Amino acid sequence: MAWRSRGLSNADLVRQLQEHGIIKSEAVAQAMTATDRKHYVASNLNPYIDTPQRIGHGATISAPHIHAYALELLENYLKADSKILDVGSGSGYLTACFARYIMKKENATGFVVGIEHHPKIVELGRNNIRADDESLIDSGKIILVEGDGRLGYKEHAPYDCIHVGAAAPETPQELINQLKPGGRLLVPVGPDGGTQYLEQYDKDANGKVTKSRLMGVMYVPLTDLHS
Ligand code: SAH
Repeated sequence: MAWRSRGLSNADLVRQLQEHGIIKSEAVAQAMTATDRKHYVASNLNPYIDTPQRIGHGATISAPHIHAYALELLENYLKADSKILDVGSGSGYLTACFARYIMKKENATGFVVGIEHHPKIVELGRNNIRADDESLIDSGKIILVEGDGRLGYKEHAPYDCIHVGAAAPETPQELINQLKPGGRLLVPVGPDGGTQYLEQYDKDANGKVTKSRLMGVMYVPLTDLHS
């Protein structure tokens, strides 16, 4: 991107993303404002710069504008009773934003499942979310599990929407299978370090799936844990 926001605070960063037209939805702005990035980045770094940052064990927290795009593209699928799957939940930041977005709704019964394959990162994400607000996990609004996210998470399937935070060489079919009719999957697709695109899969009421290619992106890869 041609510019890089640097906020003085979390609220200031979100305001800048709004000013640049990246966040258009007030509800997305509210969820991101309520979720302070300081809980999710390494303690020696400025949390309010619009850039991805390393969080250890080969993982990164995505840049704020990427989180904003994901929330905007999925917001119609974040309803009071939605079940959401966040694959490669990493730092836990976006997982917490999804939870906060639906918790704003009246009688919210929905929840977010974050799946992450590296045990240390599962622990990191859990600690980050707890430092932010313990009740997010204690209330069951966020369920963090360890596993290969390319296989989805059958226990709570099907999902209203699925977000994938790492790039797959090809879209994992199991994720499409675990989408509800009327649901949306957002996944970066392409080789590690090569040309990747953010792809959107919409499943209609009859189960027909339509794919759209949204924009060029750069994500860390979805991997085998021991490769
Ligand atoms: N949305 C997260 C993105 C983290 S980076 C954030 O902004 O913090 C991508 C994450 O995907 C890493 O934490 C990595 O460990 C995880 N990952 C990679 N391959 C995976 C797989 N097969 N299953 C589950 N998680 C995976």
